[in-house]
Amino acid sequence: MADPKGFLTHDRELPARRPVDVRIQDWREVYEAFPAQKLNKQAARCMDCGIPFCHNGCPLGNLIPEWNDLVYRHDWREAIERLHATNNFPEFTGRLCPAPCEAACVLGINADPVAIKRVEVEIVDRAFAEGWVRPQPAAVKTGKRVAVVGSGPAGLAAAQQLTRAGHDVVVFERADAPGGLLRYGIPEFKMEKRHIDRRLEQMRAEGTEFRVNVNVGVDITAAELRAQFDAVVLAGGATQWRDLPVAGRSLKGVHQAMEYLPPANKALADSPINARGKHVVVIGGGDTGADCIGTAIRQGAASVTQLEIMPKPPASRAGSQPWPTFPTLFKMESAHEELEEGGGARVYAVSTTEFVGDEAGNVVAIRLVDVEGPETGFRPIPGSERELPADLVTLSMGFVGPEKGLLLEELGVSFDARGNVARDKTYMTDVEGVFSAGDMGRGQSLIVWAIAEGRAAASGVDRFLTGETALPYPILPTARPLV
Ligand SMILES: Cc1cc2nc3c(=O)[nH]c(=O)nc-3n(C[C@H](O)[C@H](O)[C@H](O)COP(=O)(O)OP(=O)(O)OC[C@H]3O[C@@H](n4cnc5c(N)ncnc54)[C@H](O)[C@@H]3O)c2cc1C
Ligand code: SF4
Repeated sequence: MADPKGFLTHDRELPARRPVDVRIQDWREVYEAFPAQKLNKQAARCMDCGIPFCHNGCPLGNLIPEWNDLVYRHDWREAIERLHATNNFPEFTGRLCPAPCEAACVLGINADPVAIKRVEVEIVDRAFAEGWVRPQPAAVKTGKRVAVVGSGPAGLAAAQQLTRAGHDVVVFERADAPGGLLRYGIPEFKMEKRHIDRRLEQMRAEGTEFRVNVNVGVDITAAELRAQFDAVVLAGGATQWRDLPVAGRSLKGVHQAMEYLPPANKALADSPINARGKHVVVIGGGDTGADCIGTAIRQGAASVTQLEIMPKPPASRAGSQPWPTFPTLFKMESAHEELEEGGGARVYAVSTTEFVGDEAGNVVAIRLVDVEGPETGFRPIPGSERELPADLVTLSMGFVGPEKGLLLEELGVSFDARGNVARDKTYMTDVEGVFSAGDMGRGQSLIVWAIAEGRAAASGVDRFLTGETALPYPILPTARPLV
């Protein structure tokens, strides 16, 4: 512990966001640079606790107090070594993780927690800038071939671990570029895509092969895949979305968030599904909804409203969610700030009853009602029915599991009670040599969990192929967030 009084002398501080009226004119990340001196003070706030609960809060088991200390001592080179020891892609989590580690930080019991996520991203950004992130090709090749289906954070983590262990790894991706939701779900203003590209460059130099525009199960059959590879890792995500089957659902202008965001991520303001000049209603109050808000605002929406069926969450921990659990809190993400400054609103405890259309079949309004709940099952409150103008509606209500398409059907894998791909402790499905990692086995989750699963599944695959493994195994497939 470098500075025993750091947590007493420095307050928590994060970089400022660029002014709303400036940042909505472009698609770049919203945060300003954070001076090294300020970061040093943030690292100094770490108390190096005897039992660092942040380790447990982080599904990767990131060695947080160690790298806080190294940053405080200006030993950035060693800091990136310690960070990469547990996390293949800190540039993704440092930007996008909701930081359950900070919810579990001991300082957070009676003060603001250490700014762990900010320290994480500054370490890796500096490492890239200094040229310290070099390819780490395997010293010895095993001659075994592994197919990874899906190039989201789970597939990428599994692929990098397995390539470094000496296996010949091919990542198949049906989209036109690797990255999964990192590339085509999450908008540029949350994480610029250049961060994915420079990591892929390292992976290619290590020997991982990427084959894009290949829909496994269609362009290559499950049988062909099994014949060509010694093991398969299924990391296809939980892409089956939850729908809202109310009257008017088929009207033009009502889209799933994942129909709206991918083209917007490719074409930005020129996306074919465009919010320009439209009244936009975003249904769903989570991360995906926030991404739709920020995108619609940048495309020039006339108005944006977000609807959420749950009541407004509290600003601080509820008694039922004590430290060190990961609490549900009212959040002011960058997109929410942009929404409020633009005169838009977040409306809680409402349910959509109908989409209203014009004669040409376009959505023009949304009918909604206030609800009581959730304890009463979201009972409508009589007399609260009303309409909102809506020319574009995005449904951001989550995902119900993996697509049960040709690939899973032909492989014959089983599913758990929630409809996700079932696997044992080694991440192997009940089909020998076929493993599953990330949202496909866990259900809709987070990037940090996907990376942890990819790493753990890689250790299962390595043991299956060689009889032993030295690869880390950060989490059991059954591990769940502390809530
Ligand atoms: C809009 C949005 C925003 C989000 N924001 C955040 C956030 O800010 N922070 C956070 O922690 N989490 C966020 N999440 C959740 C996070 O992105 C996911 O939990 C994570 O990406 C899951 O990783 P994965 O590798 O399991 O799957 P995915 O990232 O979904 O990747 C799966 C990949 O597999 C490919 N694939 C599927 N089937 C096939 C096939 N048959 N053949 C070839 N390829 C196939 C898909 O095209 C896809 O590229 C967000 C999710 C969404 C939808
Ligand atoms: S990956 Fe997420 S939980 Fe882990 S240290 Fe980084 S911000 Fe915290």
